[in-house]
Amino acid sequence: MTEGKQPIIEIRNVSKRFGKVTAVDNISLDIRAGEFFVLLGPSGCGKTTLLRMIAGFEMPTEGQIIIDGQDMSLVPPNKRPVNMVFQSYAVFPHMNVTDNVGYGLRISGISKAETRDHVAEALELVKLGGFEDRMPDQMSGGQRQRVALARSLVMRPKVLLLDEPLSALDAKLRAQMQFELADLQDKVGITFVTVTHDQDEALSMASRVAVINKGEVAQLAPPSELYEYPANCFVADFVGSVNIFEGRLTLDEPDKAAVDCPGLGKIYLNHGVTGPHGANVWIALRPEKIYLHVPGEGKAARAAAQDAPDGHNLARGTIKGMSYLGDVTLYDIQLEGGHIIRVSRPNLSRHDQEDFTWDDKVSMHWRADSPVVLLS
Ligand code: ATP
Repeated sequence: MTEGKQPIIEIRNVSKRFGKVTAVDNISLDIRAGEFFVLLGPSGCGKTTLLRMIAGFEMPTEGQIIIDGQDMSLVPPNKRPVNMVFQSYAVFPHMNVTDNVGYGLRISGISKAETRDHVAEALELVKLGGFEDRMPDQMSGGQRQRVALARSLVMRPKVLLLDEPLSALDAKLRAQMQFELADLQDKVGITFVTVTHDQDEALSMASRVAVINKGEVAQLAPPSELYEYPANCFVADFVGSVNIFEGRLTLDEPDKAAVDCPGLGKIYLNHGVTGPHGANVWIALRPEKIYLHVPGEGKAARAAAQDAPDGHNLARGTIKGMSYLGDVTLYDIQLEGGHIIRVSRPNLSRHDQEDFTWDDKVSMHWRADSPVVLLS
């Protein structure tokens, strides 16, 4: 838990301009001590520039960065209590693992015996015990990335900055390293600040995520809050997959609301919405929150029918696209008004994907608390 902890990094009204390009636009946020903080956003949104300003490789055009209570304006990168792990594994090709990991300690004048102990400890942490004498070209990409991590960890920085640390790894290794990095961060307790454009990576590792769009923070929240309560259409669409329909707020009471969506029909919600009556809004509905009714009389069909809340939030359409992904099948369903809605259905049994096929007429429903109403 990071709740209530003191900020270790305070970013105060920071902007960065490169000529006419505003890479970072008046960002203010706090990163708490001991948390795994992720800067997430599409290519070019400014996340790397923000990380590089924390590291000291770029200076803000405006604003202030405070690390551990100290203003960093005049502090060069090598004097900051941070260490950066780069996207391309920054290891020396001509040094073995021990020498690579111990390099920073050796040049800072720490004794050989102490260096040896710290290196052994760091290698254990990244699960590279036994690799001490290997040269980088005798290691896989994932192992080299662990060497780069150990090289930074051994310096015991207050903050570890990671620039797309897993982007060069294949999908399977990346998924495994996501778990390992989160576990490692938990063990060492150092604040991690990571940059990524990969939402799975952000959701799986972070304690909190700042979603960046065009140099600004679109939302800052823990992963589940970003996913379940996105603050705007950009976040809803960037984090996960979503159906978005434009509509108009027609009922807004404290515990219920309704939105008229020309593409989808009248959507009922069992919670209030902050927005003026008649306002233009957007409905965001995740594909996995939509139940496809199984045709026929089976148990699943009856259960689905009972779940449908007295005719509300029901829609009908025709299957126009299917994509079998193993664990789930995605269906693109053309609604009666012509719009397409995507539904994701888990394959709970081996034959679930056989329940539907192209051009089937289907009905679907969703719970009244599933749609999110967005004002921008
Ligand atoms: P990516 O994921 O592609 O690395 P990013 O979100 O990290 O993207 P930045 O690298 O921070 O984005 O770049 C933000 C904007 O600033 C981009 O428009 C980029 O072209 C511009 N930019 C970054 N560095 C410089 C520079 N040194 N000189 C000029 N423009 C720059």
